[in-house]
Amino acid sequence: MAQITLDGIGHTYGGRAAKTDADYALKPLHHIWEAGKAYALLGPSGCGKTTLLNIISGLVIPSAGRLLFDGRDVTRLPTEQRNIAQVFQFPVIYDTMTVAENLAFPLRNRRMPRPQIEARVSEIAAMLDLTKDLGRRAQGLTADAKQKISLGRGLVRSDVSAVLFDEPLTVIDPALKWELRSKLKAVHRALDLLMIYVTHDQVEALTFADRVVVLNDGRAVQIGTPAELFEKPEHTFVGYFIGSPGMNFLEGTIEGAGILVEGHAITLGAAYPGLAAGTRVKLGIRPDYATLTEADGLPVRVRRVDDLGRKRLAHLSLGGQPLVATVPNGMAVGDGEARLRLDPARMHVYFEELRVEGK
Ligand code: ATP
Repeated sequence: MAQITLDGIGHTYGGRAAKTDADYALKPLHHIWEAGKAYALLGPSGCGKTTLLNIISGLVIPSAGRLLFDGRDVTRLPTEQRNIAQVFQFPVIYDTMTVAENLAFPLRNRRMPRPQIEARVSEIAAMLDLTKDLGRRAQGLTADAKQKISLGRGLVRSDVSAVLFDEPLTVIDPALKWELRSKLKAVHRALDLLMIYVTHDQVEALTFADRVVVLNDGRAVQIGTPAELFEKPEHTFVGYFIGSPGMNFLEGTIEGAGILVEGHAITLGAAYPGLAAGTRVKLGIRPDYATLTEADGLPVRVRRVDDLGRKRLAHLSLGGQPLVATVPNGMAVGDGEARLRLDPARMHVYFEELRVEGK
Protein backbone atom coordinates (compact mmCIF):
# COMPACT_ATOMS: atom_id res chain seq x y z
CA MET A 1 0.00 0.00 0.00
CA ALA A 2 1.39 3.36 -0.97
CA GLN A 3 0.78 7.06 -0.89
CA ILE A 4 0.42 8.37 -4.44
CA THR A 5 1.39 11.93 -5.24
CA LEU A 6 0.36 13.88 -8.33
CA ASP A 7 2.97 16.58 -8.64
CA GLY A 8 1.58 18.92 -11.28
CA ILE A 9 0.29 16.04 -13.39
CA GLY A 10 -1.42 17.23 -16.58
CA HIS A 11 -2.09 15.80 -20.00
CA THR A 12 -2.70 16.78 -23.61
CA TYR A 13 -3.33 14.08 -26.22
CA GLY A 14 -1.49 13.79 -29.51
CA GLY A 15 1.79 15.19 -28.19
CA ARG A 16 0.55 18.77 -28.52
CA ALA A 17 2.05 21.36 -26.20
CA ALA A 18 -0.67 23.13 -24.24
CA LYS A 19 -0.93 26.78 -25.26
CA THR A 20 -3.98 27.53 -23.13
CA ASP A 21 -5.82 25.77 -20.31
CA ALA A 22 -8.42 24.57 -22.81
CA ASP A 23 -5.80 22.38 -24.58
CA TYR A 24 -5.48 20.06 -21.58
CA ALA A 25 -7.55 16.85 -21.35
CA LEU A 26 -6.36 17.00 -17.73
CA LYS A 27 -5.20 20.32 -16.34
CA PRO A 28 -2.09 20.26 -14.13
CA LEU A 29 -3.05 18.93 -10.71
CA HIS A 30 -1.35 18.58 -7.34
CA HIS A 31 -2.91 15.98 -5.10
CA ILE A 32 -1.92 13.34 -2.59
CA TRP A 33 -3.86 10.08 -2.48
CA GLU A 34 -3.31 8.90 1.08
CA ALA A 35 -2.52 5.26 1.81
CA GLY A 36 -5.54 3.25 2.95
CA LYS A 37 -8.18 5.79 1.89
CA ALA A 38 -11.09 5.29 -0.51
CA TYR A 39 -11.36 7.92 -3.23
CA ALA A 40 -13.83 8.49 -6.02
CA LEU A 41 -13.07 10.35 -9.23
CA LEU A 42 -16.41 11.81 -10.19
CA GLY A 43 -17.47 13.87 -13.17
CA PRO A 44 -19.46 13.87 -16.41
CA SER A 45 -18.42 12.12 -19.60
CA GLY A 46 -15.24 13.53 -21.10
CA CYS A 47 -14.09 15.37 -17.96
CA GLY A 48 -10.79 13.47 -17.77
CA LYS A 49 -11.48 10.66 -15.26
CA THR A 50 -10.13 7.85 -17.40
CA THR A 51 -7.13 9.93 -18.42
CA LEU A 52 -6.18 10.43 -14.77
CA LEU A 53 -6.77 6.78 -13.89
CA ASN A 54 -4.67 5.68 -16.87
CA ILE A 55 -1.86 7.99 -15.79
CA ILE A 56 -1.84 6.33 -12.36
CA SER A 57 -1.90 2.84 -13.86
CA GLY A 58 0.75 3.62 -16.48
CA LEU A 59 -1.40 3.27 -19.61
CA VAL A 60 -0.90 6.98 -20.30
CA ILE A 61 2.37 8.82 -19.73
CA PRO A 62 1.44 12.37 -18.64
CA SER A 63 2.69 15.28 -20.70
CA ALA A 64 3.36 17.35 -17.57
CA GLY A 65 4.33 16.69 -13.96
CA ARG A 66 5.57 13.76 -11.89
CA LEU A 67 3.82 10.76 -10.38
CA LEU A 68 5.26 9.47 -7.12
CA PHE A 69 4.50 6.23 -5.26
CA ASP A 70 5.78 6.65 -1.70
CA GLY A 71 8.16 9.34 -2.91
CA ARG A 72 9.53 7.22 -5.77
CA ASP A 73 9.16 8.70 -9.26
CA VAL A 74 7.16 6.20 -11.34
CA THR A 75 6.01 8.62 -14.08
CA ARG A 76 7.60 6.59 -16.87
CA LEU A 77 7.47 3.14 -15.29
CA PRO A 78 5.48 0.51 -17.25
CA THR A 79 2.17 -0.68 -15.77
CA GLU A 80 3.47 -4.11 -14.75
CA GLN A 81 6.14 -2.54 -12.58
CA ARG A 82 3.69 -0.33 -10.68
CA ASN A 83 2.16 -3.01 -8.47
CA ILE A 84 -1.39 -1.89 -9.12
CA ALA A 85 -4.61 -3.93 -9.23
CA GLN A 86 -7.34 -2.88 -11.65
CA VAL A 87 -11.03 -3.64 -12.07
CA PHE A 88 -12.56 -2.61 -15.37
CA GLN A 89 -16.13 -1.93 -16.55
CA PHE A 90 -16.48 -5.41 -18.00
CA PRO A 91 -15.42 -8.70 -16.40
CA VAL A 92 -11.85 -9.79 -17.09
CA ILE A 93 -11.76 -13.43 -15.98
CA TYR A 94 -10.88 -16.89 -17.28
CA ASP A 95 -14.03 -18.76 -18.26
CA THR A 96 -12.40 -22.19 -18.14
CA MET A 97 -11.17 -21.75 -14.58
CA THR A 98 -13.25 -22.16 -11.44
CA VAL A 99 -14.20 -19.12 -9.39
CA ALA A 100 -11.58 -20.10 -6.80
CA GLU A 101 -8.86 -20.44 -9.46
CA ASN A 102 -9.79 -17.05 -10.89
CA LEU A 103 -9.53 -15.42 -7.49
CA ALA A 104 -6.25 -17.21 -6.75
CA PHE A 105 -4.66 -16.25 -10.07
CA PRO A 106 -3.00 -12.96 -9.04
CA LEU A 107 -1.61 -14.68 -5.91
CA ARG A 108 -0.29 -17.72 -7.79
CA ASN A 109 1.48 -15.34 -10.13
CA ARG A 110 3.26 -13.92 -7.07
CA ARG A 111 4.16 -17.45 -5.93
CA MET A 112 2.35 -17.16 -2.64
CA PRO A 113 2.31 -20.45 -0.64
CA ARG A 114 -0.86 -22.51 -1.21
CA PRO A 115 -2.29 -22.36 2.37
CA GLN A 116 -2.03 -18.56 2.32
CA ILE A 117 -3.67 -18.43 -1.10
CA GLU A 118 -6.55 -20.56 0.12
CA ALA A 119 -7.04 -18.41 3.22
CA ARG A 120 -7.05 -15.18 1.23
CA VAL A 121 -9.36 -16.55 -1.47
CA SER A 122 -11.92 -17.67 1.11
CA GLU A 123 -11.70 -14.31 2.89
CA ILE A 124 -12.37 -12.36 -0.33
CA ALA A 125 -15.05 -14.82 -1.52
CA ALA A 126 -16.89 -14.43 1.79
CA MET A 127 -16.80 -10.64 1.49
CA LEU A 128 -18.36 -10.76 -1.98
CA ASP A 129 -20.81 -13.64 -1.35
CA LEU A 130 -18.94 -15.91 -3.73
CA THR A 131 -18.24 -18.74 -1.27
CA LYS A 132 -20.93 -21.10 -2.60
CA ASP A 133 -19.66 -20.67 -6.17
CA LEU A 134 -15.95 -21.24 -5.46
CA GLY A 135 -15.90 -24.70 -7.08
CA ARG A 136 -17.93 -23.72 -10.16
CA ARG A 137 -16.51 -22.90 -13.55
CA ALA A 138 -16.82 -19.21 -14.38
CA GLN A 139 -18.32 -20.10 -17.76
CA GLY A 140 -22.10 -20.02 -17.53
CA LEU A 141 -22.22 -17.68 -14.55
CA THR A 142 -24.25 -14.48 -14.91
CA ALA A 143 -22.60 -11.18 -15.90
CA ASP A 144 -23.16 -10.01 -12.30
CA ALA A 145 -21.35 -13.00 -10.85
CA LYS A 146 -18.50 -12.63 -13.35
CA GLN A 147 -18.05 -8.99 -12.44
CA LYS A 148 -18.00 -9.96 -8.75
CA ILE A 149 -15.15 -12.35 -9.58
CA SER A 150 -13.37 -9.46 -11.32
CA LEU A 151 -13.83 -7.34 -8.22
CA GLY A 152 -12.49 -10.21 -6.11
CA ARG A 153 -9.43 -10.55 -8.33
CA GLY A 154 -8.80 -6.84 -7.98
CA LEU A 155 -9.01 -7.04 -4.21
CA VAL A 156 -7.25 -10.30 -3.50
CA ARG A 157 -3.68 -9.01 -3.24
CA SER A 158 -2.90 -7.22 -0.01
CA ASP A 159 0.52 -5.97 -1.20
CA VAL A 160 -0.61 -3.65 -4.00
CA SER A 161 0.10 0.08 -4.08
CA ALA A 162 -3.52 0.79 -4.98
CA VAL A 163 -6.65 -0.77 -6.44
CA LEU A 164 -8.14 1.17 -9.36
CA PHE A 165 -11.79 0.72 -10.34
CA ASP A 166 -13.09 2.04 -13.68
CA GLU A 167 -16.91 2.22 -13.52
CA PRO A 168 -16.99 -1.33 -12.12
CA LEU A 169 -20.76 -1.55 -11.60
CA THR A 170 -21.74 -0.71 -15.19
CA VAL A 171 -22.81 -4.28 -16.06
CA ILE A 172 -24.38 -5.00 -12.68
CA ASP A 173 -28.14 -5.41 -12.48
CA PRO A 174 -29.69 -2.30 -10.83
CA ALA A 175 -31.21 -4.36 -8.00
CA LEU A 176 -27.81 -5.77 -7.07
CA LYS A 177 -26.02 -2.43 -7.55
CA TRP A 178 -27.39 -1.15 -4.25
CA GLU A 179 -26.00 -4.11 -2.41
CA LEU A 180 -22.61 -4.10 -4.11
CA ARG A 181 -22.15 -0.37 -3.58
CA SER A 182 -22.33 -0.63 0.18
CA LYS A 183 -20.50 -3.95 0.15
CA LEU A 184 -17.51 -2.35 -1.59
CA LYS A 185 -17.39 0.26 1.15
CA ALA A 186 -17.35 -2.48 3.80
CA VAL A 187 -14.64 -4.32 1.84
CA HIS A 188 -12.55 -1.17 1.80
CA ARG A 189 -12.84 -0.82 5.57
CA ALA A 190 -11.82 -4.44 6.08
CA LEU A 191 -8.87 -4.40 3.65
CA ASP A 192 -7.39 -1.00 4.35
CA LEU A 193 -6.05 -0.52 0.80
CA LEU A 194 -5.78 2.71 -1.20
CA MET A 195 -8.66 2.52 -3.66
CA ILE A 196 -9.52 4.93 -6.48
CA TYR A 197 -12.93 4.52 -8.02
CA VAL A 198 -13.93 6.22 -11.28
CA THR A 199 -17.61 6.90 -11.84
CA HIS A 200 -20.01 9.43 -13.30
CA ASP A 201 -22.64 8.32 -10.76
CA GLN A 202 -22.71 10.54 -7.70
CA VAL A 203 -24.50 7.94 -5.55
CA GLU A 204 -21.74 5.41 -6.24
CA ALA A 205 -19.06 8.00 -5.53
CA LEU A 206 -20.61 9.29 -2.31
CA THR A 207 -21.40 5.80 -0.97
CA PHE A 208 -17.92 4.47 -1.62
CA ALA A 209 -15.49 7.26 -0.98
CA ASP A 210 -13.92 8.91 2.06
CA ARG A 211 -12.96 11.66 -0.34
CA VAL A 212 -14.26 12.58 -3.77
CA VAL A 213 -12.30 14.36 -6.49
CA VAL A 214 -14.82 16.19 -8.67
CA LEU A 215 -13.57 16.76 -12.20
CA ASN A 216 -15.13 19.06 -14.76
CA ASP A 217 -13.67 19.87 -18.12
CA GLY A 218 -10.27 18.45 -17.17
CA ARG A 219 -10.06 20.42 -13.93
CA ALA A 220 -10.32 19.13 -10.36
CA VAL A 221 -12.90 21.65 -9.14
CA GLN A 222 -13.14 20.30 -5.59
CA ILE A 223 -11.65 17.52 -3.50
CA GLY A 224 -13.61 16.82 -0.34
CA THR A 225 -15.65 14.48 1.82
CA PRO A 226 -19.18 13.70 0.66
CA ALA A 227 -20.52 16.03 3.39
CA GLU A 228 -18.23 18.88 2.28
CA LEU A 229 -19.34 18.52 -1.33
CA PHE A 230 -22.96 18.62 -0.27
CA GLU A 231 -22.79 21.38 2.34
CA LYS A 232 -19.98 23.55 1.01
CA PRO A 233 -19.61 23.27 -2.75
CA GLU A 234 -16.59 25.40 -3.67
CA HIS A 235 -17.73 25.79 -7.26
CA THR A 236 -21.18 26.15 -8.80
CA PHE A 237 -20.48 23.00 -10.85
CA VAL A 238 -20.16 20.92 -7.66
CA GLY A 239 -23.39 22.38 -6.26
CA TYR A 240 -25.20 21.52 -9.44
CA PHE A 241 -23.60 18.11 -10.05
CA ILE A 242 -23.90 16.75 -6.47
CA GLY A 243 -27.39 16.34 -5.04
CA SER A 244 -30.56 15.27 -6.77
CA PRO A 245 -31.79 17.67 -7.90
CA GLY A 246 -28.73 19.89 -7.63
CA MET A 247 -28.30 23.23 -5.92
CA ASN A 248 -30.43 26.23 -6.97
CA PHE A 249 -28.62 29.34 -8.16
CA LEU A 250 -30.34 32.72 -8.07
CA GLU A 251 -28.67 35.63 -9.82
CA GLY A 252 -28.64 38.90 -7.95
CA THR A 253 -26.56 41.83 -6.73
CA ILE A 254 -25.01 42.52 -3.35
CA GLU A 255 -26.93 45.16 -1.46
CA GLY A 256 -26.24 46.01 2.19
CA ALA A 257 -26.22 42.77 4.23
CA GLY A 258 -28.10 40.86 1.56
CA ILE A 259 -28.67 40.12 -2.09
CA LEU A 260 -31.23 41.73 -4.30
CA VAL A 261 -32.91 39.08 -6.48
CA GLU A 262 -35.62 40.18 -8.91
CA GLY A 263 -36.35 43.19 -6.72
CA HIS A 264 -36.55 41.16 -3.47
CA ALA A 265 -34.02 41.66 -0.69
CA ILE A 266 -32.76 38.31 0.62
CA THR A 267 -30.91 38.52 3.93
CA LEU A 268 -27.75 36.43 4.02
CA GLY A 269 -26.64 34.29 6.97
CA ALA A 270 -23.16 35.86 6.93
CA ALA A 271 -21.52 39.13 5.90
CA TYR A 272 -19.47 39.30 2.68
CA PRO A 273 -17.22 42.30 3.24
CA GLY A 274 -15.09 41.40 0.20
CA LEU A 275 -17.97 42.03 -2.18
CA ALA A 276 -18.84 45.65 -2.94
CA ALA A 277 -22.47 46.77 -3.26
CA GLY A 278 -23.73 46.18 -6.78
CA THR A 279 -21.45 43.14 -7.43
CA ARG A 280 -23.28 40.53 -9.49
CA VAL A 281 -23.24 37.16 -7.70
CA LYS A 282 -25.09 33.87 -7.57
CA LEU A 283 -26.91 32.81 -4.43
CA GLY A 284 -26.70 29.04 -4.03
CA ILE A 285 -29.19 27.08 -1.93
CA ARG A 286 -30.06 23.40 -2.02
CA PRO A 287 -33.71 22.37 -2.56
CA ASP A 288 -33.47 20.68 0.87
CA TYR A 289 -33.04 24.11 2.52
CA ALA A 290 -35.57 26.06 0.42
CA THR A 291 -39.06 25.38 1.77
CA LEU A 292 -42.53 26.54 0.90
CA THR A 293 -44.16 28.19 3.90
CA GLU A 294 -47.57 29.33 5.02
CA ALA A 295 -45.92 32.17 6.97
CA ASP A 296 -44.30 35.21 5.45
CA GLY A 297 -41.73 34.58 2.75
CA LEU A 298 -40.55 35.39 -0.76
CA PRO A 299 -43.39 35.52 -3.29
CA VAL A 300 -42.96 32.69 -5.80
CA ARG A 301 -45.06 31.05 -8.49
CA VAL A 302 -45.51 27.27 -8.36
CA ARG A 303 -45.08 25.75 -11.81
CA ARG A 304 -45.25 22.06 -10.91
CA VAL A 305 -45.09 19.76 -7.90
CA ASP A 306 -43.34 16.37 -8.11
CA ASP A 307 -44.56 13.86 -5.54
CA LEU A 308 -41.63 11.54 -4.87
CA GLY A 309 -43.44 9.52 -2.20
CA ARG A 310 -41.14 10.33 0.72
CA LYS A 311 -41.06 14.03 -0.17
CA ARG A 312 -42.55 16.55 -2.57
CA LEU A 313 -40.53 18.98 -4.65
CA ALA A 314 -42.03 22.18 -6.00
CA HIS A 315 -40.66 23.73 -9.21
CA LEU A 316 -40.94 27.47 -8.73
CA SER A 317 -40.22 30.76 -10.34
CA LEU A 318 -38.94 33.76 -8.40
CA GLY A 319 -39.40 36.65 -10.78
CA GLY A 320 -38.19 34.96 -13.96
CA GLN A 321 -35.71 32.66 -12.20
CA PRO A 322 -36.39 28.96 -11.73
CA LEU A 323 -35.72 27.07 -8.51
CA VAL A 324 -36.74 23.87 -6.75
CA ALA A 325 -37.97 23.76 -3.15
CA THR A 326 -39.24 21.24 -0.63
CA VAL A 327 -42.94 21.14 0.22
CA PRO A 328 -43.46 20.54 3.97
CA ASN A 329 -45.42 17.40 4.92
CA GLY A 330 -49.16 18.00 5.01
CA MET A 331 -49.03 21.37 3.25
CA ALA A 332 -51.62 21.81 0.51
CA VAL A 333 -50.07 23.32 -2.60
CA GLY A 334 -51.31 23.88 -6.13
CA ASP A 335 -50.04 25.82 -9.13
CA GLY A 336 -49.99 29.58 -8.59
CA GLU A 337 -48.81 31.99 -5.92
CA ALA A 338 -46.94 30.70 -2.85
CA ARG A 339 -44.40 31.79 -0.24
CA LEU A 340 -40.86 30.55 0.09
CA ARG A 341 -38.41 30.45 3.00
CA LEU A 342 -34.66 30.12 2.38
CA ASP A 343 -32.54 28.97 5.36
CA PRO A 344 -29.93 31.76 5.78
CA ALA A 345 -27.46 29.36 7.41
CA ARG A 346 -27.44 27.21 4.26
CA MET A 347 -26.96 29.95 1.69
CA HIS A 348 -23.74 30.23 -0.30
CA VAL A 349 -22.56 33.13 -2.37
CA TYR A 350 -20.66 32.54 -5.62
CA PHE A 351 -18.68 35.13 -7.51
CA GLU A 352 -17.47 34.05 -10.95
CA GLU A 353 -18.54 30.45 -10.17
CA LEU A 354 -16.37 30.25 -7.03
CA ARG A 355 -17.72 30.24 -3.49
CA VAL A 356 -17.01 33.33 -1.40
CA GLU A 357 -16.48 32.66 2.28
CA GLY A 358 -18.83 34.71 4.50
CA LYS A 359 -17.81 36.07 7.88
P1 ATP B 1 -15.93 9.00 -20.07
O1 ATP B 1 -16.70 8.87 -18.79
O2 ATP B 1 -16.79 9.32 -21.26
O3 ATP B 1 -14.97 7.87 -20.31
P2 ATP B 1 -13.80 10.59 -18.97
O4 ATP B 1 -14.23 11.51 -17.89
O5 ATP B 1 -13.16 9.32 -18.57
O6 ATP B 1 -15.03 10.32 -19.94
P3 ATP B 1 -11.53 10.98 -20.67
O7 ATP B 1 -11.80 9.70 -21.42
O8 ATP B 1 -10.37 11.00 -19.76
O9 ATP B 1 -12.82 11.44 -19.89
O10 ATP B 1 -11.39 12.15 -21.75
C1 ATP B 1 -10.98 13.46 -21.43
C2 ATP B 1 -10.81 14.27 -22.72
O11 ATP B 1 -9.74 13.73 -23.48
C3 ATP B 1 -12.02 14.21 -23.63
O12 ATP B 1 -12.15 15.47 -24.24
C4 ATP B 1 -11.67 13.15 -24.65
O13 ATP B 1 -12.31 13.39 -25.88
C5 ATP B 1 -10.17 13.32 -24.76
N1 ATP B 1 -9.50 12.03 -25.07
C6 ATP B 1 -9.57 10.90 -24.34
N2 ATP B 1 -8.81 9.92 -24.87
C7 ATP B 1 -8.23 10.47 -25.97
C8 ATP B 1 -7.31 9.97 -26.96
N3 ATP B 1 -6.83 8.72 -26.91
N4 ATP B 1 -6.94 10.81 -27.94
C9 ATP B 1 -7.41 12.08 -28.01
N5 ATP B 1 -8.26 12.60 -27.11
C10 ATP B 1 -8.68 11.82 -26.11
